[in-house]
Amino acid sequence: MSTSLLKKAYDPENFRREGHQLIDLLGDHLKEVFQEEKEKVIDHATPTEELQYWKNYLEEGVAGAWPEKLLEHSIHLHNPRYMGHQISPPVPLTGLTGLASALLNNGMGVYEMGAGPTIMERLVTDTLCETLGYPGEAAGFLTSGGTLATLTALLSARKRKVGHNVWENGSGPALAIMVSEEAHYCVDRAARIMGLGTRGILKVPAGKDFRIRTNLLQEVYDKAKADGLQVFALVGSAPSTATGIYDDLEILQNFAADKNLWFHVDGAHGGAAMFSGKYRQLLKGADLSDSIAIDGHKMMMMPAITTALLFRDKRDSHNTFVQKADYLLQDSSDEDWYNLAKRTFECTKYMMSLHWFVLLKTYGKGLFDEFVTTLYDLGHTLGEMVAAEPMLELAVKPMSNIVCFRYVAGESDAATLNKLNSDIRKKLLESGEYYVVQTTLGGTFYLRTTLMNPFTTKEHLQGMLNRVKHLGSGFLGK
Ligand SMILES: *Cc1c(COP(=O)(O)O)cnc(C)c1O
Repeated sequence: MSTSLLKKAYDPENFRREGHQLIDLLGDHLKEVFQEEKEKVIDHATPTEELQYWKNYLEEGVAGAWPEKLLEHSIHLHNPRYMGHQISPPVPLTGLTGLASALLNNGMGVYEMGAGPTIMERLVTDTLCETLGYPGEAAGFLTSGGTLATLTALLSARKRKVGHNVWENGSGPALAIMVSEEAHYCVDRAARIMGLGTRGILKVPAGKDFRIRTNLLQEVYDKAKADGLQVFALVGSAPSTATGIYDDLEILQNFAADKNLWFHVDGAHGGAAMFSGKYRQLLKGADLSDSIAIDGHKMMMMPAITTALLFRDKRDSHNTFVQKADYLLQDSSDEDWYNLAKRTFECTKYMMSLHWFVLLKTYGKGLFDEFVTTLYDLGHTLGEMVAAEPMLELAVKPMSNIVCFRYVAGESDAATLNKLNSDIRKKLLESGEYYVVQTTLGGTFYLRTTLMNPFTTKEHLQGMLNRVKHLGSGFLGK
């Protein structure tokens, strides 16, 4: 068997040469998008067109190296006119930690398969616990996304709060969790995976302000009990994905404590507010939660995908996936903390701690404060700008960097307005000058922006609003 391909593929000098070229290309790209020399945030094509393009490319119908092609065929998060989904433009340094992590490929399941990064993970999650205000016996780990973190937290909750050990003995009494109807769909999905079914997901209505209606908690809880359900957990949103509105975590925490429920905070988007001197009060009550999830790839400037899941009591972080014995009988909560796969869903995972650790080491916590505070401030600014425009209407006064609004222009027919705003969003996507997304709240179609780029200015926001108004008046023929 010839090994010429293998020798070529693993050649260190090829790596060095191609690596330098790639870094130069990406450096130029960053400069261009920051300085807005590239007009489009996204060069939209249909999936069928895209499929044809890459099929051609694979079969060598199109000339050129893959890095240039990739830049042309992907969305550019570092462009200040990117204001769509909640993924952050990563700090360029984390592009380099990502490279190092991918190349070294330490598997992280057991200590020996990533000694340094395992300890980094411990130090980083300890820092997060302390910043949040958790007590000394708290601990956490990193995992692959907010969705998986939610499932893990609810499994821990079930193990701790339900007398019947489902993990050991299979399904037992009918179980339920309580959560706002505005929560991210991953809570619903986790509950279904756990076998709770539709009736085990108690959706508490939200008010006009899109916050969970805490005055209904007792009623929902009582009804569930009367229906023979055992409620074991309550989930709060910090904030909810669609609107960026934080639930009143303090009231939720009180209710959970009173009923002996596990209180989980879904801080996938806004848990990072713990670093903001100005906005950390939004998390009041989270310091008394049982667990909280925080996405590194959202408000912490890291590449996808990396999520911290923190537990108020480290025993819970160790016992979620324990196969045998009630954790209460286990005397040492510190056992094997350095073998991460015992505590996480994943067996192998990438060296995600490197991003967190190197950012902390290089810039300190102040970087996260600057990022969150700048963007939440910008969210408020956009809220005020929209409120001042008679042609536009806010869904709700923003509490974070997520802002939903629509073009109304005096029109009142609901179906007309939904169609109009949907058309505006479609045109925005096709032109690619600004990237905003959409959401439907209570049957009403809204344009949805998440301000993720700290270099987006008031002028960019005004430009986007002008574009929306221009498109809207064009469609209305006014
Ligand atoms: C994004 C988000 C999630 C899901 O997190 P992933 O990292 O995308 O899996 C869960 N909850 C909230 C509130 C979110 O914003």
